[in-house]
Amino acid sequence: MSLDITHLGSGSRGNATLLSTGDTRVIVDCGFSLKKMEERLYLAGVKAESIDAIIVSHHHGDHAKSAARASKKWGARLYANLETSMKLGLEPISEVRTFEGLERLDISDELSLLPVPVPHDGADNVAVIASNFEGRRAAVVTDLGEPTIELMKHLSGCEHISIEANYDLNRLISGPYPPSLKKRITGRGGHLSNQQTADILAEVLHPKLTSIVLCHLSEKNNAPHLAESEVLHQIGEKFNGVLSISKQEGPEFSNRLGQSELIKINSTL
Ligand SMILES: [Zn+2]
Ligand SMILES: [Zn+2]
Repeated sequence: MSLDITHLGSGSRGNATLLSTGDTRVIVDCGFSLKKMEERLYLAGVKAESIDAIIVSHHHGDHAKSAARASKKWGARLYANLETSMKLGLEPISEVRTFEGLERLDISDELSLLPVPVPHDGADNVAVIASNFEGRRAAVVTDLGEPTIELMKHLSGCEHISIEANYDLNRLISGPYPPSLKKRITGRGGHLSNQQTADILAEVLHPKLTSIVLCHLSEKNNAPHLAESEVLHQIGEKFNGVLSISKQEGPEFSNRLGQSELIKINSTL
């Protein structure tokens, strides 16, 4: 059974990713308004009420904005770890199902999720590794200053990786941000640069990795061609799959696990 990964949009103004396999649908991060979430799901051909679960990686607004409201309205189970739940003011058990790092969450017989803790600025953030019932995996990884050994281990088994490429170091350094913010972004709890993302991908690359999506690109400190060329420079010779970029406005395409062709979404609002 296939697993489809669809970015509904990605960037500092909101993030949401739809995972679909068989009859199971999960949203990783719900960082747009409820109206926008529903519009974007509609464009992706999915009824909001058919979403089984929403998992929130961390409490920042660009990841959690409408998660609680969407969960209630759509009747979708909400998952977040305890710190994220507390920071969002959610009541464990009645409003949110909390989890520990590396606790396997069985969403259905068809799909499970593994939250992998990653370092990020004042947040207990997790990367999400999705496995279908055949054990085939896809990763969604954003908002981290650097990778951990545990994350690298899990990425090595994924056929699809969506990973942030937040900034180009030269653009960030010469850009308008104050020095303190520049320091925070480049620090252990900040975001991944194009170079760091390229290094991670070069290390975890294996023959079955067929699709990569670069996401959460900074509009001020990055540009799609910079992120793409940095990654291709590192892995281009060995990578035979498809490399794409998720923009702030979406959805534009889906990736199907194990396939190196994009499924284009042909709709506009
Ligand atoms: Zn964040
Ligand atoms: Zn973010």
